[in-house]
Amino acid sequence: MLNLVLFGPPGAGKGTQADFLIEKFQLIHLSTGDLLRTQIAAETELGLEAKSYMDKGFLVPDSIVIGMIKSKLQENKNATGYIFDGFPRTVAQAKALDELLNENGTPVSGMLCLDVEKEELISRLLGRGKTSGRPDDQDVSIIENRIQVYNEKTMPIKDYYQAQNKCHKIQGMGSVEEIAQRLIATVSAL
Ligand code: AMP
Repeated sequence: MLNLVLFGPPGAGKGTQADFLIEKFQLIHLSTGDLLRTQIAAETELGLEAKSYMDKGFLVPDSIVIGMIKSKLQENKNATGYIFDGFPRTVAQAKALDELLNENGTPVSGMLCLDVEKEELISRLLGRGKTSGRPDDQDVSIIENRIQVYNEKTMPIKDYYQAQNKCHKIQGMGSVEEIAQRLIATVSAL
């Protein structure tokens, strides 16, 4: 079973690259951002609560996202592998994911860390905001906040996976195809 954690700052291209990896390795895509936006669109209580954090660029509480991932893992028990996109985002989430996966004896295979310069992130997100309609992609101060939250809360996860020898740094600048080939080569060698 192949369990991949796709890691990187907002705008690193995680969603775009996840599509290539899913097709190549037949994985189930679990994006907590997408799952939360589905809840917002359905106007559920969870969605309303999550929106108040997401619109400002803050993280949604761990208990909410861990609960969502837990139920998705239970729904897809026969999967041949997963790609976790935008999750985990805190060390507590990384620990919870390890516990959930270890219950089935199918640990994280590797963490793929996309490395992209800050100016490039901001320009990609503002570009996406013009078509995505996402409020958190349309305002530079919210984007800056998301990058700061990433640096403070999410970056420590790198050390967490590094300690398990699972952290693989991928150059995230260049064409979409070039980056996809780098990722595929890394995953093929896991
Ligand atoms: P994304 O689509 O991954 O860029 O996520 C959009 C927003 O959803 C983030 O800025 C957070 O507010 C929220 N979010 C997504 N995934 C998580 C997570 N794993 N933990 C906490 N908040 C999350």
